[in-house]
Amino acid sequence: QTVVNRIAAGEVIQRPSNALKELIENSLDAGSTKIDVQVKDGGLKLLQIQDNGHGIRKEDMAIVCERFTTSKLNRFEDLTGIATHGFRGEALASISHVAHVMITTKIADSPCAYKALYSDGKLIPAKPGQSADPKACAGNNGTQIIAEDLFYNVPTRKKAFKSISEEYNRILDIVSRYAIHNSGVSFTCIKKGSNVPDVKTSTGATIVENIRLLHGSVASELLSIDREFDSLGFKMTGYISNANYSVKKMTFLLFINHRSVENSSIKRAIENIYAMLLPKGAHPFVYLSLEIDPKNVDVNVHPTKKEVHFLHEDRITGAVCDAFQEALENANH
Ligand code: ADP
Ligand code: MG
Repeated sequence: QTVVNRIAAGEVIQRPSNALKELIENSLDAGSTKIDVQVKDGGLKLLQIQDNGHGIRKEDMAIVCERFTTSKLNRFEDLTGIATHGFRGEALASISHVAHVMITTKIADSPCAYKALYSDGKLIPAKPGQSADPKACAGNNGTQIIAEDLFYNVPTRKKAFKSISEEYNRILDIVSRYAIHNSGVSFTCIKKGSNVPDVKTSTGATIVENIRLLHGSVASELLSIDREFDSLGFKMTGYISNANYSVKKMTFLLFINHRSVENSSIKRAIENIYAMLLPKGAHPFVYLSLEIDPKNVDVNVHPTKKEVHFLHEDRITGAVCDAFQEALENANH
């Protein structure tokens, strides 16, 4: 059973950046305004996330790492009206099957924080013979989750990671994306032991300021995209570069219903618009947030399938193209 769970977990969490994405979404779901990430060895040795969200009640601590345990799905109707990032209740469970997990958390009503260790979905004692129950400790409101030695028990997976710096770059990419999309939240990401954060945003910053901070070489001006389509039940906002962005390929930050995802038909369509309107070899910067009626999106898509599909995909892609074309033509005439 443990091995089966571990294989299943390895499919949900394929690399450190997948795990971190799930942890960041949990922190955002908890209403955090400050999210601090620390990483060792590209996340393989250590992934640590501290938030100032609403925390976890002591009595819920025993179950948060169990599979399909979620506080975000109370009624069946929630399946279609879901506003939070995930509802599968699989992220923490999966992480606890492939890493050593420690959670320290405090809700505002509690005088102290509680700390607990997890393995394979369950609470475990710090030392053999001790109680596994959460222990009272000092701590601020919010939650800290530490995942150590990712894939320590999945040697084949562990061997697949050739480059720690590549894993760290994927982590920085995830933190940067969420920092841009959530400009009301301050994010930091730092290598454990370093004094200089590699990502640092502040709560008061605008989306544009965060884009410029994190993608310094975005060429010239950014054009704003802001449209609503009642008939299709969807809305798009974002910022796109007017000119080429001097990197090898398009930088495309796509959010659908506040989740960082990929969609190749939208991506290809945008590339075509730029190729048509700008000099050859254009590599634009695009940050695009789509809000689509949740009942038209397959939210139950497997976490590793970053590619998300939705109803009226062609019409929505067309609407995105129109908006881009208009913004680019207006700016260049
Ligand atoms: P899901 O997010 O799909 O509910 P997870 O496995 O990601 O499932 O998390 C399980 C549960 O643990 C969440 O539903 C939530 O109640 C709790 N939880 C996880 N992370 C946090 C956090 N940072 N702050 C508050 N609660 C959290
Ligand atoms: Mg989650």
